[in-house]
Amino acid sequence: MILETFPVGPLQCNCTILGDGEAHEAIVIDPGDEVGRIHRRLTELGLQLKQILITHAHIDHIGGALKLKKLTGAPIFLNEKDLPLVKMMAAQAAWLGMATPETAPPDENLTDGQSVGLARCPAQVLHTPGHTQGSVCLHFIPLNLLIAGDTLFAGSIGRTDLPGGNFDQILESIHARLLALPGDTKVIPGHGPSTTIGEERRSNPYLGSGRFL
Ligand SMILES: [Zn+2]
Repeated sequence: MILETFPVGPLQCNCTILGDGEAHEAIVIDPGDEVGRIHRRLTELGLQLKQILITHAHIDHIGGALKLKKLTGAPIFLNEKDLPLVKMMAAQAAWLGMATPETAPPDENLTDGQSVGLARCPAQVLHTPGHTQGSVCLHFIPLNLLIAGDTLFAGSIGRTDLPGGNFDQILESIHARLLALPGDTKVIPGHGPSTTIGEERRSNPYLGSGRFL
């Protein structure tokens, strides 16, 4: 399998390309910006894009999705609880002083327990509200890999002060759904360096209060 993660856009959102070199198929997760670069890389690798998966509808994660869909024909997947944030794209752009990207409602709803991704490398969708109401993580069991969006970071957790954010809820999502995964599960967060579930269980300062024990 081909796995490439690279930061895109002014907020350096981690965009991931996951490809099957034998089937010549790929998915892209969180194409927030720099769509030309993402599309060029897919072409270089000879991969046809099958799905565009969005962990949540903040502009730095979803901003390039429609442009990438227009270039490739691939459908966009997003949890429906983040539709209000899609409708607020002009406001989101204004907060950051950015141009408003063209957006459209997603083609498919990402629901808890759903299987998405590639035939030989599926992911299970974990609905993990708290950073936003529609935030999801993608658990690629064959790769022992979690794409965590802005729910869990190396040494931190997602902010909850934006519309749809809820601090108690994000802690509950992380404890109930993410820390329950095997400790050696690799975590690629929405921003910054990779980590593992075990490392965050041991050392994440937001998760050690004992209130959920
Ligand atoms: Zn976010």
